[in-house]
Amino acid sequence: SFSAIVAEDVDGKPVATLKQISNADLPDLPVLVEVAYSTMNYKDGLALSGAAPICRKLPLICGIDLAGTVLESADPAFSPGDQILVNGFGLSEVHNGGYTQRQRLDPGWIVRVPESMSLSETMALGTAGYTSMLCVQGLQDQGVTPEDGPILVTGAAGGVGSVAVSLLAGLGYEVHASTGRIDEQGEFLRGLGASALVPREDLARDCKPLERELWAGVVDTVGDKVLATAIAQTKYEGVVAACGLAGGAGLSSSVMPFILRGVTLRGVDSVMASQARRQRAWDALAATMNREHLASLSETVPMSELMEMAPKILAGQIAGRLIVDVNA
Ligand code: NAP
Repeated sequence: SFSAIVAEDVDGKPVATLKQISNADLPDLPVLVEVAYSTMNYKDGLALSGAAPICRKLPLICGIDLAGTVLESADPAFSPGDQILVNGFGLSEVHNGGYTQRQRLDPGWIVRVPESMSLSETMALGTAGYTSMLCVQGLQDQGVTPEDGPILVTGAAGGVGSVAVSLLAGLGYEVHASTGRIDEQGEFLRGLGASALVPREDLARDCKPLERELWAGVVDTVGDKVLATAIAQTKYEGVVAACGLAGGAGLSSSVMPFILRGVTLRGVDSVMASQARRQRAWDALAATMNREHLASLSETVPMSELMEMAPKILAGQIAGRLIVDVNA
């Protein structure tokens, strides 16, 4: 038997607990993996605390990410010893996820760990870091270059935000980091390459349809009023990559930035992104992510202590990324 965090039906609601399971509890899928690490993302916080119905099929092993080593594969594309990772694809929603020492996987979900990365580095990034790269590539694909002007990152001290700050600064962009925690996290964000800090209150307010043009691009992890204000401040033909809802799922904006400034609102989804998009993002992370920054923004927590972390990530009290050691 081995340890896993499993959501089970208790009076019609998913309730997650750490328990012992066996191979018989794993799904009938072709690739058996020894899991080394998983991660804790905002969505994992929602699943573990039961704050939102993330696990839609019960019982279900939680954890939207995993990285590990192939033990057995009925699919010839994978061999014992291969290092692999999975992000999303319904893990912890409708498929068994990464908070377990072993898992069986569909080969179609698997990304090979880039050669220059360790298993723990891939999970220091996790879904959050991979989503940051999808946002950065969303801006690049629309033609936003460092010469066009500053990039705003919202929720900057969080997982997606902190990786985005480091990536954009490393690519030569001038990064303005918006956070509700300037006193606590300002130095950390400057260390990742932010050249200016923007108080959350400057954005989390009712905005005018058009405000002063400030941003060539935006990576938004917050949503709601923060996103609306960022859109109203985006420069002519600028691009806003929207990936999150840490501040709320609403969006009350006007068409003015779109029809008078040609602003692009670029949605970013990591869960069902194609293999081609994933591979491109992971290759770019392997090539560009500053490993010292990655070490400084991530911390490893044992799976046995994970349940206590869920309320903290939902309350916005975690900075950077949490790697989960599933064997501790
Ligand atoms: P996280 O580590 O908790 O970071 C979220 C950050 O948002 C917090 O650190 C905080 O930043 C800010 N924040 C929290 N509550 C807020 C509030 N009420 N108002 C304004 N800002 C607030 O979470 P994460 O894992 O990085 O995820 C960030 C968001 O992206 C989540 O909504 C998540 O669901 C979403 N996401 C989406 C995808 C996708 O595929 N689209 C993938 C990954 C994540 P400061 O302390 O700096 O203000």
